[in-house]
Amino acid sequence: MSQPIDIAIIGAGGAGLAAGIFAAQTRPDLSIALLDGARAIGAKILVSGGGRCNVTNVRVSPSDFNGTHRFVERVLQRFDERATTRWFDSLGVPLKEEPTGKLFPVTNSARTVLQALLDRNTTLGVRLLPQHRVKDLRPDEQNFDITTERETFTARRVILATGGQSLPKTGSDGHGWTIARQLGHTVTPTFPALVPLVLNDQFFHHTLSGISHEGTIMTRVDGKLVDRRTGSLLWTHFGISGPVTLDASRFWIIAHGQGQEAALFLNFFPGQSFEDVDRWLSKAGTASGRQTLAGLLSERLPVRVAKILCSYVENTWPPPPGKDRHDENFTDLGTTPLGELRRATRRALTQALTNLPLPVIGSRGWNFAEVTTGGIPLKEVNPYSMASRQIPGLYLIGEMLDCDGRIGGFNFQWAWSTGCIAGTHAAESF
Ligand SMILES: Cc1cc2nc3c(=O)[nH]c(=O)nc-3n(C[C@H](O)[C@H](O)[C@H](O)COP(=O)(O)OP(=O)(O)OC[C@H]3O[C@@H](n4cnc5c(N)ncnc54)[C@H](O)[C@@H]3O)c2cc1C
Repeated sequence: MSQPIDIAIIGAGGAGLAAGIFAAQTRPDLSIALLDGARAIGAKILVSGGGRCNVTNVRVSPSDFNGTHRFVERVLQRFDERATTRWFDSLGVPLKEEPTGKLFPVTNSARTVLQALLDRNTTLGVRLLPQHRVKDLRPDEQNFDITTERETFTARRVILATGGQSLPKTGSDGHGWTIARQLGHTVTPTFPALVPLVLNDQFFHHTLSGISHEGTIMTRVDGKLVDRRTGSLLWTHFGISGPVTLDASRFWIIAHGQGQEAALFLNFFPGQSFEDVDRWLSKAGTASGRQTLAGLLSERLPVRVAKILCSYVENTWPPPPGKDRHDENFTDLGTTPLGELRRATRRALTQALTNLPLPVIGSRGWNFAEVTTGGIPLKEVNPYSMASRQIPGLYLIGEMLDCDGRIGGFNFQWAWSTGCIAGTHAAESF
């Protein structure tokens, strides 16, 4: 015998928990249930932001998202970062701003965020049903038949909030897209995003493991520049990470996944062109000819990075056409006095400093990805209600949609905003 529910929310991550609260606040008389496959609800919230949960950002705009600008704008107009801050205040979770603009709970604990969301749902009478993985969802006249691993339900409205596929051990295994497809929705190709990148093992990254510095990453696809962004880059034993890498990762991954020629390049001197850096090296040679090259570079880069770049150029950079490596001073570059640096060597080094090819061979995959790129196209959803344009009574929210934010609290903002809109609208629709 199926249990009747007014609103069933499938998936109790950030988006589903927000939807539960807004639905129950709007219509306290309705029966609302949150069904989740996981044994413990909210595992992803607990690990987010290094265990502190970066709830949102002090400034959120459509350009912080990869998704149809107009759609994101409408969603944010309904529930933006200021509304989020007020809402969390009302849940007893005041937020504080960090210098980067990220907002965290003042407690510095993601558990505070999760507990507040669970408590408010419970107080409002929303039933929390963990270990209820939904296997099947079928529209049936005015209702939906929901089959879980334990029992079956009949719901008058369904909010699908099953997330993407990032960190699948938290329960977000991509099954929600199968359900959505069976209902007639499409799903654009999905890839891990906000994920560290793996470099060819022959590259020098291992020797710099743990070092971070500012850098600009440029992504070229089939020779065309598709993305350029600046931020902190972290060298690791497998390749590169840090905010700038995570944000850039989607562009390489999508292009590579679609069989295009994708290549990443690093400028160690953000905002400076080849000409700027070449001029700087040339001037330094005239002004302080006895200073070593590695010495000069370490004034602007970590010492280990300066040294490795010199030996990299020495060992791998092709000498100019018609020249032998030994014709030029490509040897012992780090200790070469600046005054003795020849033009060809200087230009080879400048090239490495401003446009170093990073030999990316892949990403760390779903287990290390913070978000999914791709999903249900936004055009299949109404931005004012998050209702499916295909199936009456169905709502689609959160990471399962084809919209991903950059690092900085934007993905949770998307979860709260879409959850608020769907929860409110589903409750008002009775
Ligand atoms: C390590 C890590 C750190 C992060 N840190 C931040 C951060 O600090 N700030 C930020 O903005 N974003 C962060 N993110 C991204 C953010 O966590 C997600 O974008 C956001 O949680 C997505 O919310 P969601 O509710 O749409 O999906 P999810 O949180 O993935 O929730 C989906 C839920 O649906 C359930 N589910 C799936 N399939 C079924 C089914 N068939 N039946 C029933 N239940 C099902 C799952 O168990 C899960 O609980 C981080 C992500 C990761 C992985």
